Amino acid sequence: MRRFLIAGNWKMNLVHNEAKALIDGIVQGASSCTTAVDILICPPFPFLEGAVQMTQGTGIQVGAQNVHHEQSGAYTGEVSAPMLKSIQCTHVIIGHSERRAYFHEGNDLINAKVKTSLAWGLTPVLCIGESLEQRRAGATFSVLNEQLVYGLQGIDNDHVGRIVIAYEPVWAIGTGMSATSSQAEEAHRFIRGVIGTFSDNAVALNMRIIYGGSVNPDNAAQLLCQEDVDGALIGGASLKAESFCEIVGIAESIREKAACR
Ligand code: PEP
Repeated sequence: MRRFLIAGNWKMNLVHNEAKALIDGIVQGASSCTTAVDILICPPFPFLEGAVQMTQGTGIQVGAQNVHHEQSGAYTGEVSAPMLKSIQCTHVIIGHSERRAYFHEGNDLINAKVKTSLAWGLTPVLCIGESLEQRRAGATFSVLNEQLVYGLQGIDNDHVGRIVIAYEPVWAIGTGMSATSSQAEEAHRFIRGVIGTFSDNAVALNMRIIYGGSVNPDNAAQLLCQEDVDGALIGGASLKAESFCEIVGIAESIREKAACR
């Protein structure tokens, strides 16, 4: 059975004392849940090492929001996979729609970042998703297919199985307008099918596909109860320990999809 992954993407928010208070709150609020649910927080770079220290022994994992595709060199302002690994980060978000849109990251660059992260033992959380225009034009599945096929090209089955896919419809991110549970399930099922065809079925069945886009304590249960939804990538609601831990608690109480019926 696939374990839920509940992940928080803090984006470019909070300063040092606020970040510490949030981590404290999450450690306190979520520590009783960590046996059944994997918890990941992705603070901005300056807070990563402190977050690793503060979460030591809690089971809460710490990931970055971006990484450079080269492992070292003259890339002023960038952060490498070995750097993240050396401070015990476990995950890295790659291909978030904000990076695709504002930093013009395309599928080839995203693919290179995924490969470098895997080579350094980091788990990529590969974000894919369609815009509202693409959905309205009926192009959702072709967009997802393209982002998957190019994002994962040249990666063998073993490594594909280590990746987490985050389905994040662009129109649902930060808008308060989540996908419905059936829209999410339809997309997740499609994604699992695509991975099954170019990788293999066992890999597709075992890998986690999490949903992101305006997840909050009110809609989390409905989304997490969908067969192919294996967790959530949470932006806004991850910035408050209370709401983030409430979603972790909801995941914990579902555990098995049978509990949803
Ligand atoms: C995100 O940034 O990945 C995200 C899903 O944000 P929000 O939950 O705020 O929509």
